[in-house]
Amino acid sequence: MNQIPLVDLKAAHAEVAEDVRAGFDRVLAGTAFIGGEEVRAFEREYAEFAGVGHCVGVANGTDALELALRAVGVGVGDEVVLPANTFIATAGAVARIGARPVLADCLPDTLLLDPAAALDAVGPATRAVVPVHLYGQCADTAALTAGLPKHVRVVEDAAQSQGATRDGRSAGSGTIAATSFYPGKNLGAYGDAGAVVTDDAEAANLVRALANHGGVAKYRHDVPGFNSRLDGLQAVVLRAKLARLADGNAARRAAAARYDALLGGLAAAGRVTLPVTADGNVHVWHLYVVRVGGADRDAVVGKLNAEGIGAGVHYPAPVHLTPAFRHLGHVRGDFPHAERAADRMLSLPLFPQITAAQQQRVVDALTNALR
Ligand SMILES: *Cc1c(COP(=O)(O)O)cnc(C)c1O
Repeated sequence: MNQIPLVDLKAAHAEVAEDVRAGFDRVLAGTAFIGGEEVRAFEREYAEFAGVGHCVGVANGTDALELALRAVGVGVGDEVVLPANTFIATAGAVARIGARPVLADCLPDTLLLDPAAALDAVGPATRAVVPVHLYGQCADTAALTAGLPKHVRVVEDAAQSQGATRDGRSAGSGTIAATSFYPGKNLGAYGDAGAVVTDDAEAANLVRALANHGGVAKYRHDVPGFNSRLDGLQAVVLRAKLARLADGNAARRAAAARYDALLGGLAAAGRVTLPVTADGNVHVWHLYVVRVGGADRDAVVGKLNAEGIGAGVHYPAPVHLTPAFRHLGHVRGDFPHAERAADRMLSLPLFPQITAAQQQRVVDALTNALR
């Protein structure tokens, strides 16, 4: 049977295969395996793309979050406010520092962090708030920044939002943001990779030092650090894909609009709730997440998968209902919007190369599964 994957990495590779091969040859000839020219060039190009002053390439998105949080002063025992509806790594990065994740509910329509709930969760021990730009659109960072006391910093989780803007502003400008280049992300490497972006030169330098054994020069260790560096081969892939990212994001927007149209009947009948884009947002559609009404979501996913359609769930459990974060002491009912969404949400295949025929087949299968 003809499979329609959630994300088609083969199609993505086909577009960059020649550039990647040529770049790998350059790196192999020069043996710049960690850091080096390709990494520096990618950091410059990505900073320019994101409209920020500085980009520091690191080993993965979770490290990027940890490093960004450390760079703004988050330490052991501090509290960090983050959404209950996110990928677990947002909370994991906080926990790894020895800080305490403090959860806040999401908005019922966009499923992004509710700024009012986040501000309510801020207490005397709060050191940072992490808006997560989930599914490819920016959470309301401006509302957070305006409402927070001066000593509480905003650290954006931009792992799913490369290229997204809100009111013309991209993640990390004016504050600090972490992103991930995990292969399935909008800008994906061929292994693990990530970056911290910021306009703050001092924070960028601190991230660079922390990620390189505590110093930017060899055998100079100014702060206790660890090892989280971007390698030359990944930088080659990222440069080749970055050159096509704006086009890829535009193709994702077109595909999302086509789903909206194809799903109009199911939406009007109340069988699915379509994703909502917040005012002022340019969405980059990392994921197209619908919610099913009055149907067993897991059964629907099962039927789609049985037809060769790579539907997924992002994410089946909000942070507080995972065993890993049970110790935070929450119960079902504490974050009702996140919980309700987690029970009903379903991600449809979406990638820049998806065809109209593939999308029609997905919608036909979903229609059948909801019958
Ligand atoms: C992917 C992701 C991360 C973690 O990135 P890794 O590169 O897998 O460590 C963090 N936050 C969100 C929202 C993500 O989607």
